[in-house]
Amino acid sequence: MTAIISCTDVSRTYGSGRDAVVAIHGVTCEVREGDKIAVVGSSGSGKTTLLHLLSGLDGPTTGEIHRYDAPVGIVFQGPSLLPPLDVTENVALPLLIAGCDGGEAEDRAREALRQVGLAGLGKRLPEELSGGQAQRVAVARVLAAAPRLIIADEPTGQLDSAHADEIISLLLGVADDLEAGLVIATHDPAIAERLPYRWEMCDGTLGRQTC
Ligand code: ADP
Ligand code: MG
Repeated sequence: MTAIISCTDVSRTYGSGRDAVVAIHGVTCEVREGDKIAVVGSSGSGKTTLLHLLSGLDGPTTGEIHRYDAPVGIVFQGPSLLPPLDVTENVALPLLIAGCDGGEAEDRAREALRQVGLAGLGKRLPEELSGGQAQRVAVARVLAAAPRLIIADEPTGQLDSAHADEIISLLLGVADDLEAGLVIATHDPAIAERLPYRWEMCDGTLGRQTC
């Protein structure tokens, strides 16, 4: 399988001097097309830091990250929709930013919303959605942009287990459709079990387990 991103001996330190916090260190890993990876580990173990580096939101302090020119889609734990924009506009926005024509962006947004089962909610504002619906919209936003790598940081952290299961099913389906790599941070063992690979973060280092 083709590699999408690889990290070699990567570290990320926040702050400096006596206040420095080494969030992750010595991390070497690779995500390939079609990989589905659960990043598990206790709070503070470095999951979010690693996901930010994989998604390109942040850069490493030391080490190397090589991206194979792969667009990335991100699903966050909490609310991430822009409040003044309706659902369709939220899904279309990354496409518009990427230079897509307005009509095409809207068509792709509508199609993605249909695929996540929200065809009827395009005109709603984020504040009119339940937490589960808002996360579906966030998944639709990723789907519409068709990335090669999908990063989700505790995407079900604020949902009950039934809705959590639905969101994970959607993410797995979207990753299959796009033949994308999928990396989900979670501390829910039931969710981690649904993904074939497990990366275990412990005090900023990465161990690996394949289930
Ligand atoms: P997790 O997502 O597993 O809870 P994080 O990656 O958020 O772990 O955090 C790893 C470590 O880095 C923790 O000790 C945390 O307090 C610290 N940390 C995270 N972000 C920052 C920041 N912006 N500034 C300082 N320390 C941070
Ligand atoms: Mg975190």
